[in-house]
Amino acid sequence: MLEFFDTCQTRRYNPPPMTSHHSRLPLHIDPFRLAHTGQCLSGTIKLNQMPRLSPLLTDSQGGVEIVLEFSIDPAGVAIVNGRLQTVLPLVCQRCTENMTWPVRSEFCLGLVSSEASIEGLPAQYEPYLVESVPVFLQDIIEDELLLALPQIPKHDLSECPARSYLSTDTTEQSSSETDTHQPFAGLKDLIKND
Ligand SMILES: [Zn+2]
Repeated sequence: MLEFFDTCQTRRYNPPPMTSHHSRLPLHIDPFRLAHTGQCLSGTIKLNQMPRLSPLLTDSQGGVEIVLEFSIDPAGVAIVNGRLQTVLPLVCQRCTENMTWPVRSEFCLGLVSSEASIEGLPAQYEPYLVESVPVFLQDIIEDELLLALPQIPKHDLSECPARSYLSTDTTEQSSSETDTHQPFAGLKDLIKND
């Protein structure tokens, strides 16, 4: 694999890797092929194209900016270094008013084609199981966005319009603060893990 990668480095590919931020993103990709040819994809995916995420948003007109760099690491593992950035409009569960949740996320996926190969993946990679090719590109991004969502969206207490309705009792305040830090329990079902 390493040998193949080295060969790829010296070969010329068409078209050249994305140079424009406004390049059109493909709907479907073969991530292994992109890794072997060292491609980079960048562009914007609309939030309303994401069927698992968009029902959780108050407005899905926006988009998520993504950069995905596909490569083969020195050990021969196909990897994707990704960055994404967006602002998700959510409803504050304390006051039920709209709030925004900025997301800036970096991730590094290790691509595997079977459950069995997940074990052999170096620990620094988040396993991404490619069951069949092509892969729906937005699925990868949607998974990452779902992971970035808070379990219970809430304004900062100092900014929440409902703070005046809250008892000044400190017990109540501290319990609502605790809620914000709950892990992503309910979201697990939404994330594709089969
Ligand atoms: Zn609020």
